[in-house]
Amino acid sequence: MVSTENEHRIAEWFATFDQDGNGYIDREDFSAAAKTLLAEFGTTARCDKGQALYLGAEAFWQGMAGIADRDGDQRISRDEFVNGAVKRLRDNPDRFAEIARPFLQAALAVADADADGAATVEETARVLRCLGVDAPTAKAAAAALDADTDGRVTQAEVISAFARYFTVPE
Ligand code: CA
Ligand code: CA
Repeated sequence: MVSTENEHRIAEWFATFDQDGNGYIDREDFSAAAKTLLAEFGTTARCDKGQALYLGAEAFWQGMAGIADRDGDQRISRDEFVNGAVKRLRDNPDRFAEIARPFLQAALAVADADADGAATVEETARVLRCLGVDAPTAKAAAAALDADTDGRVTQAEVISAFARYFTVPE
């Protein structure tokens, strides 16, 4: 039932979440991503934006663990990811985007230097690079995120792109 294309996609998703590449998705992957983002944009963990990012990262982790950490050992193995998270993604990608929303919103706010409510395409590419995306892919993905091509990436654009990225094809 799982095609080779899907297997490839699922492996890619797992690698996206397993930021430190130790074979498990755990809280550390999320807090490390938050830390990297704050360093990239020169934001402290103690300011409002920094706090929101850490809270969003924790909520994202808790949401993922609630879906996928079957044995409750506070880490999501590849098996747990495939059997728990992927099934949920297939059933309801929008719901999954809701779990990620606070983190995504906070990450955009950290990137949005002039605080006009949207990150530039360049700022968005920097966010993606922080999350381990290689530079050319990050640049292309950030441009694609700007669906209405006004040079700014809004929260709505990020949330809907996130849901699309994590959609399991039929
Ligand atoms: Ca990990
Ligand atoms: Ca587990």
